[in-house]
Amino acid sequence: MARGVKAQPPIEKENLKVGPTKKVAAGLVGVQKSFDIGLSEAGIARTIKTMRTVNRFDGFDCPGCAWPDPDDHRSGFEFCENGAKAFATEATKKRATPEMIGSMTVKQLSEMSDMELDKMGRITNPMILREESERYEEIGWEEAFSTISQATSALSSPKEAVLYTSGRTSNEAAFLWGTLARQIGTNNLPDCSNMCHESSGYALGKSIGIGKGTVKLSCFDKADLILVIGQNPGTNHPRMLTALSNCKKNGGSIISINPLEETAMRRFKHPQNPLHMLGSGTQIADEHIPVRIGGDAALLQGFAKVMIDEDSFDHAFIDEHTIDFDEWKKHIQSSDWDEIVLQSGISKTRIEEIGKVISKSRRMIVCWAMGLTQHENSVGVIQEIANLLLAGGHFGKPGAGACPVRGHSNVQGDRTVGINHHPSEEFLSACEDATGIDMPRERGYDAVDFVHAALDDNVRLYMAMGGNFVSAMSDTERVAEAISNIDLTVQISTKMNRSHLVTGKSALILPCLGRTEKDPAGFVTVENSMGVVHPSTGSLEPASQSLLSEPEIVCRIGKSCFPKGPFNWQSFTNYDETRDLISRCIPGFEDYNSRVREKGGFYLPNGPRDGPVWKTPSGKAHFFCNNLPERRLREGSFVMMTVRSHDQYNTTIYGMDDRYRGIYNSRRIVMMNPVDMEELRVVKGQEVDITSHWGDRDIHSERWKVVPYEIPKGNLCSYFPEANVLVPLESTAEGSNTPTSKWIEVTLSTRKARFWKSSSSNLN
Ligand code: SF4
Repeated sequence: MARGVKAQPPIEKENLKVGPTKKVAAGLVGVQKSFDIGLSEAGIARTIKTMRTVNRFDGFDCPGCAWPDPDDHRSGFEFCENGAKAFATEATKKRATPEMIGSMTVKQLSEMSDMELDKMGRITNPMILREESERYEEIGWEEAFSTISQATSALSSPKEAVLYTSGRTSNEAAFLWGTLARQIGTNNLPDCSNMCHESSGYALGKSIGIGKGTVKLSCFDKADLILVIGQNPGTNHPRMLTALSNCKKNGGSIISINPLEETAMRRFKHPQNPLHMLGSGTQIADEHIPVRIGGDAALLQGFAKVMIDEDSFDHAFIDEHTIDFDEWKKHIQSSDWDEIVLQSGISKTRIEEIGKVISKSRRMIVCWAMGLTQHENSVGVIQEIANLLLAGGHFGKPGAGACPVRGHSNVQGDRTVGINHHPSEEFLSACEDATGIDMPRERGYDAVDFVHAALDDNVRLYMAMGGNFVSAMSDTERVAEAISNIDLTVQISTKMNRSHLVTGKSALILPCLGRTEKDPAGFVTVENSMGVVHPSTGSLEPASQSLLSEPEIVCRIGKSCFPKGPFNWQSFTNYDETRDLISRCIPGFEDYNSRVREKGGFYLPNGPRDGPVWKTPSGKAHFFCNNLPERRLREGSFVMMTVRSHDQYNTTIYGMDDRYRGIYNSRRIVMMNPVDMEELRVVKGQEVDITSHWGDRDIHSERWKVVPYEIPKGNLCSYFPEANVLVPLESTAEGSNTPTSKWIEVTLSTRKARFWKSSSSNLN
């Protein structure tokens, strides 16, 4: 790597501890952890101020996940433990000053762990890493903008520019960012959804005409059945547990389908309910189905077979609203029970039991997350969900529908307002009319395409609005090689991460305001996982007087690159002007400025939920037939998936513990079924090397500690982002091109016993 920088964090020296998995989620420990992190990072005054304003009608939107807030009320403390970690570390009093960043070479910085980098605190000033230098140095804003405009002018084709977006970006900043890319002349707009819910958007768009969920938060109170598939709400969307316990309170049932039985799906103690805190909490899942990794399509087809046997279809709905039902029914009838049982790892009797519960449901919600979206056949799996929902008539009524749960707070909004590498003609021509800019029509790069293009030396300028692409993306070492080919890389950021160290030949860091902070230009807006657009207003003093807001940074880059128009960038530092522009380009945002000022904001239109009506070419919802995957593993191979620990949010690592799973002090672990451990003759804490296999390509990674865990035999589980190095760039989902981080074929080799012996005394 250029400058000797390390693309992966150093192998930790701490000793692994393994304890029992927790029986109940949240409760007093969750409350205590929320306060602990707030007090240690932000101090008492800032902690109380942020806790009292997060997710309130007049406060700021939690920069954590995209779970919605209640429409009509807000409680005194409207956040969870992981939200508290997200806003406390943004509101931290620690500062990554130019002196601190410049005191080390980028190689030395890259030898710090991801957690240590984050704990440097908020970046206070624009910084530059010049081509001949090993260290960042401070730079003025004007020089930074002119560096970007020179790099833009030097492009030999607009296709050499790539603009990445993270899911924290507000609607206003994202719309302007997309406009900037298109004024440069490209739709090269990869974003974090390429790595997460792209499969959901693609599949649902084809099946029901909208690439989003179709439920409201209040639907959880009315559902008689909720399936939670490939998702760990206790860590990744903790306030979803309140919605699930409301469903239970009202007599609904919940079924969890996941290779791991996660603590929060067993029992939950509501932190704001004193009776809950004293008691043993609420049972969440009535049933847990430990499906094999990659066995979801088979399981869903098994449920569909049971629906056929029970003849429990909503025929009136199917006749009025759908096409291709008969083909799908025939396809399901022809699928083979033995194959379904083999792939899912669930017995026919058990599938029949759950299938009968699904057949009886009149108001079913299906929720899912990355456990379903990051497989080669993810699009097909999500279409099986849509098929089941259509067959039961679960659209267009309260308490029923599809619920892909989005990971980052505004990832859905960014896509809605135009962060899209293949935008529609309707959108582009509306933007052309509103902005006067000639919009490019050629399809741009998604995240995977971008890496391939940079590996081929076809990218000269890369700018990232937030995020940590190097760590978030699959195949870490190849991504690092790709990035190092680029002439100029630019990160618009609040805190340091590995993407500031794995850079192009020269690099800029442009520090921006966080969600918690006062923005002199007023509020920005975001869209949550259920299509509600609402304001976000920070109230803390900014971490530094040198910070600019994200929209202002984009406008000043735009003005510097295109001073002669036709788009008057300067006027869009006024957010009302930007929202007016959005309202002229995107249906559903009419009267944006006044509707978003109403308490709680407004819902975007959603055909399957509000009608149901279907924005598909046929005007109907479609049943899709998908064959089960035919996969043959090498002798001795395992299937591995990646998950997040409880002490992290996306690529941000807050601590070294995974409390609910009972894994402490280590992130370089691999969870393994005890029977597999016995067969492989490995013991708890023993170090193994992992090699992933894809086609002719093998990727080798050293020193992972084995943790015995209740996971289906033949399956393994490791932490994102450390295990991303093992996900081959070429291994992506058909149709959506999402990296297959939940299905990696690997083999293990044991290391010499001395590694195990040296750490054995610290194992429980
Ligand atoms: S559930 Fe998500 S949005 Fe809500 S407080 Fe927790 S992390 Fe933030």
